[in-house]
Amino acid sequence: MKSLTLKAPAKVNYRLDVLRRRPDGYHDLRMIMQRISLCDEITITLSDMPGIRVACGREGVPDGPGNIAWRAADALLKLSGRQSGIDIAITKNIPVAAGLGGGSSDAATVLLGVNELLGLGLSTERLMEIGVTLGADVPFFVFGKTALAEGIGEILTPIEAVPPLWMVIVNPNIPVSTAWVYGSLRLTEGRIGDNIPRFFKGVADVCAVLSNDLETVTISKHPVIGEIKEMLIASGASGALMSGSGPTVFGLFPSEEGALEAARSIGEVSGWFVTVARALV
Ligand code: ATP
Repeated sequence: MKSLTLKAPAKVNYRLDVLRRRPDGYHDLRMIMQRISLCDEITITLSDMPGIRVACGREGVPDGPGNIAWRAADALLKLSGRQSGIDIAITKNIPVAAGLGGGSSDAATVLLGVNELLGLGLSTERLMEIGVTLGADVPFFVFGKTALAEGIGEILTPIEAVPPLWMVIVNPNIPVSTAWVYGSLRLTEGRIGDNIPRFFKGVADVCAVLSNDLETVTISKHPVIGEIKEMLIASGASGALMSGSGPTVFGLFPSEEGALEAARSIGEVSGWFVTVARALV
């Protein structure tokens, strides 16, 4: 049986500006999105038995059509008119409902993997178009580079110069609903968003853009997020920010040693999910 095993990386947002609410209910955003080395692992296997089967085995993540990876495979099968069976096994390492884009990354990885396994020959652009029908962050993961993301997240411009950096990822194990965060956000009328630089020479340049409009909303409900930011800075991070709609916080470090040391000290006292990840370039 033809089979592929792929890594599905998480992301963090170095920047997240919410510009306006759109008539379709989505929001126009300006984001800087960075893939990181914390990954789910996905094995996709073609089968003679028609149908799509997802095995994930993580509490809170559905195995059937409720899984966004299932819907990604279904979208490609429908488009191609093929009758193949597809088995998808997901090893979930990325915290769920955490602001790290785990589900979107799984979906993008399935789009890329099924396209290859079935020899569909769909372009990256076409897969991104299919991706945005599944979720606003899916095109970014298909794109596969650090990017400025605009629109609802589907208009992507690559950011080429990204310095090597490490981050400590801290998730206090509180699931946060993205819909609740956007629903609770007070928007500033006429916001156009600042100019966002496209070149980052060093960690200081990345720290200069760190900002997330959703942070105050999520912190108002979960003040621990603010405490985690302070702990990261006190442990030597050059900057710290909540990712996406939260609650995960990342702290940036110019060296792996510094990140490992901070992760050790925060992990020891907290009992939270704490890991060190590299920015992927
Ligand atoms: P984002 O930052 O894009 O909002 P997130 O990290 O906050 O993403 P996810 O972990 O992607 O959130 O999952 C959100 C919800 O989607 C969960 O409640 C989960 O049940 C559901 N879900 C469906 N498929 C998956 C999947 N493959 N991985 C994780 N969650 C999934």
